[in-house]
Parts: sequence; structure tokens; C-alpha cells
Amino acid sequence: MIAPSRPYPFGIPDAATKKPRIAVIAGDGIGVEVTEQALRALPALGVDAELTHFPWSANHYLATGETLPKGALEQLRDGFDAILFGAMGDPRIPEQIVARDVLLGLRFGLDLYINLRPVELFDERLCPIKGKGPQHIDFVVLRENTEGPYVQMGGTFKRGTPDEVAISEDLNTRKGVERIVRAAFALAGLPRAGSASAISGPPSKPRVCMIDKANALPHAHGLWQRVFKEVAAEPAHKDIAASHLYVDVAAMEFVRAPERFDVVVTSNLFGDILTDLGAAICGGLGVAASGNIHPGRVSLFEPVHGSAPDIAGRGIANPLAAFLTLALLLEHVGRSEAAGRLRAAVQAVVRRGETTVDIGGTLSTAACGDAVLAALSRYSNSSTLS
Ligand code: ATP
Repeated sequence: MIAPSRPYPFGIPDAATKKPRIAVIAGDGIGVEVTEQALRALPALGVDAELTHFPWSANHYLATGETLPKGALEQLRDGFDAILFGAMGDPRIPEQIVARDVLLGLRFGLDLYINLRPVELFDERLCPIKGKGPQHIDFVVLRENTEGPYVQMGGTFKRGTPDEVAISEDLNTRKGVERIVRAAFALAGLPRAGSASAISGPPSKPRVCMIDKANALPHAHGLWQRVFKEVAAEPAHKDIAASHLYVDVAAMEFVRAPERFDVVVTSNLFGDILTDLGAAICGGLGVAASGNIHPGRVSLFEPVHGSAPDIAGRGIANPLAAFLTLALLLEHVGRSEAAGRLRAAVQAVVRRGETTVDIGGTLSTAACGDAVLAALSRYSNSSTLS
């Protein structure tokens, strides 16, 4: 049984009635290889999209000196519904300035304040935790994506001396915290048919868990606690169970009892760390997708993995994270039925072992892409997947 997609409350208004305008930034290394595979799914799904490819990458920078060009933010904001991003990073580029300018430039410049990462296990074989299957691991993490230490506030004093002082500030604003907490309740509040998180019996009550460290960071995370309590207490959220965990306990619980999570909301730094743990309990980076979202506006969808220079060009990168990334993007542009079919196809190839070596298969990147397309065509012929 394939778990239905979670309802998605952040999409472009009326998108289902319009042809989606998708910007493609494949980037560097395996980003290019996996994006090429993911794009093959669009015609196979019958999605007629307007695709525009942008060349921003290490090669483009080395040839032209350009990272994110002037006017790019406006062009993407006004002319597109979604961005399909591969990966960026290249050992030839000092301090990864291309990746920083393009990816962080887009995250901050387009105010993509929700980093959404599903933590969904497709097959028991991919899970390193004994006794846990797809019925136990099916939650979503919403990571705040525009604040915290990532704003680079701080500095050093007496640098390079024994008296050096280094300070990184952790920025948290009322507005920033409130909007990500509200997003978590919006996501949890939508009814979900046949929730896979219901281990037995009827689907359980939706749950939002806020993860913080207010005991050690009483100022910054005291704000998170206050905002979370206020939003949870609103009448519209009375049917959603709200809880909080300190991040150290949460890390343990992700492994010990992942079934207790439904929607998780947390800060930028903790989200960064916890979602890698989330990826690890579902099969690793090769199957982890993410969205950088501003509800109702152009948003950017990318695999969690980077450009992986160690395996780039060898045709062995796992394309499944990119297919799942495209499925998230399709939700954003109002194509949830196609998104559901694509997720189901990915789950089918995982269950049949038609995968790349990182998750136990023998296939190349392209052959794994072929397997996803074959699963899609089996699905459209029979309406059930095997
Ligand atoms: P970043 O710094 O952006 O995270 P990175 O290249 O250091 O990038 P990743 O690319 O995220 O790190 O991945 C770390 C390792 O995991 C890679 O070196 C690679 O061996 C493996 N890996 C990542 N993605 C994939 C994939 N899609 N398929 C197979 N292996 C992968």
C-alpha cells in the first residue's frame, strides 16, 4: 500500500488551471545528472510545463565570472512558479562562492522561509533501525530557513592571536518564528486520508512537535516557546496535538521512536542537523528531497544531497531524491495527482530493488531513471503499482 501524499497547503493559487512555469538550475556535479533524469518524468506524467534552463554553475562562473546575475531574482520571482534545482559545489571554486551566491541568494532573496523535508521511509530494507518500517517513519520537518546563525551576524576580534574572540549571533525574530510555526499548523491541520503514521487502528490526531533548546537558550528559544504556545492555543488548532522536545531528546527520539512524529517545526540550525538524521533513517542522501518555500510564490525544490564531486561523472548517482524533489515541486504547482503517481513509482522501484548502489542496487543513474519511467507506465496501465 502506498501512502497518499500529504495535502500541501503552500502552493501557487489556482496553479492547477495554468501551465506551470519551471526554472531549471541543474548546477554542478551530480546535480546535472540527477536533474536530467527527473525531467524525464514530466512527459511521462503528462505534465505540460514551460521549462527554462539557467546555466548558473561552476563551469559558467569559470567561463564568465558570473554567479547569480543582476536581475535574476526579479526574473525568477515574476516569471516562474517553481525552480527545480540540482546541486551546487565544485572543488575548483574558492569558498564555494557560486553555491553561496546562487543558493543562499535565492533562499534569502526570494524569502523562502520554509525548508520542508519529508522524512518518509519507502521500504524497510532502507532503514538502519531494527524493527522500523514505512508505518513507523512518515513525518515532515519544517525548518526555519531565513534566520538563526545563517544570517552571518557576528565577527572575530584579535583574530589569529591567543586572545581571539569569535562570535556568531543566532537571530530569531517574532515574525520569522511565527510564520514557520503557523506553516507547521497549516500543514498538520489538513485532513490526510489513510495516514501511514497510524500504526494500527484509525488515523491518529494530527500532531505538531516544536524542537528547541529553551533550557540553554532562554532568550532565543524562549521566543519560540511563547509563540508556539500562543499559536497552538488558537481555536483553529484545537484538534492538533501540540508538543515540544528539546533538541537532544528529539535526536534520540528520531531513532528510538520515529513514529511519534507527524509535523516537526524547528529552527534553522537544528533543522539542518535533524534532517540529515531524518535522511539517514530513510536510506540516506540518495532518497532525500526538500523544498525551499514561500507559500503562494515561486519556490525552490532541491535534493538534500550536494554535488558529490567524488562520484560526479561516473553515472552512479542515485536519481531518486531528484524524482522525489520533482514530486514536491508538482504539489507546489497544483499537480498533486501527478506528484502522487511519481512518489508511488519511486516507492515501487525501491521495493523491487531497481536502484543505484548507494541503496543496495546495481543500476546506473540512467537505468534507475528508466525503472522509474517503467513503473510510471505500469501505473498508468493498471492503476496499481507493483
Ligand atoms: P555539500 O557540501 O553540498 O553537502 P558534498 O558533495 O560534500 O556537498 P553530498 O554531495 O551531499 O556532499 O554527499 C556526500 C556523499 O554522499 C557524496 O560524496 C556521495 O558519495 C554520497 N552521495 C550524495 N548524494 C548521492 C546520490 N544522489 N547518490 C549516491 N551517492 C550520493
